[in-house]
Amino acid sequence: MSIQTNLEHIKSTLPEHVTLVAVSKTKPVTDLMEAYNAGQRIFGENKIQEMANKFTVMPKDIEWHMIGHVQRNKVKYMAEFVSLIHGVDNLNLLEEINKQALKHNRIINCLLQIKIASEDSKFGMDFESASNIIQSKTISELKNIKIVGVMGMATFTDNKKQIEKEFSSLKTTFQKLKTIKTDNCLFNTISMGMSGDYKLAINCGSTMVRVGSSIFGSRNYN
Ligand SMILES: *Cc1c(COP(=O)(O)O)cnc(C)c1O
Repeated sequence: MSIQTNLEHIKSTLPEHVTLVAVSKTKPVTDLMEAYNAGQRIFGENKIQEMANKFTVMPKDIEWHMIGHVQRNKVKYMAEFVSLIHGVDNLNLLEEINKQALKHNRIINCLLQIKIASEDSKFGMDFESASNIIQSKTISELKNIKIVGVMGMATFTDNKKQIEKEFSSLKTTFQKLKTIKTDNCLFNTISMGMSGDYKLAINCGSTMVRVGSSIFGSRNYN
């Protein structure tokens, strides 16, 4: 099936309040352009350099989302154009994002990555750390970032009950964080759900799904 057909199919199944991030990591610009020509304007990448290269050659009305783990020393390569950073999991990183955003006179939206999976390999923090970050004095001084919600990745498993439990815990964390009144936060986004589990994620309260292989086909990592 074509990228356009895949996209149209997925979009037809999404409720209106759910935003689709087309995850285009490892895919060539020709594939992204096919999605673009089918109307897609939000793309997610997990490597900063690859995203920057694609940003340079593609139309400028695209919203670029960084969905991967972010290294502090690479923030400067995306600060000019990135519209949402999904995987923020510490205050040092927020300080660096703020510093680089300031250089471009921008405010960069960020999501706090919460660890919901049982596997050790997944990045992210717990509710306590997230709560401490948004109430810290430091963050109230970071005028060039805005925390707009949370992001999480479920365990890689066929056990639907477990995935559902993990997604529900992210929704609960979101609701608890949202009640904390702070300056630089505006909680409106729950980024959860990928090709294999986005329907379940939406049932559990997701407002933003990150779908790659169901749009672009499986990835080749050679
Ligand atoms: C690759 C990736 C996705 C998309 O995965 P698919 O299974 O191809 O839909 C979503 N989120 C993150 C963080 C990813 O790295």
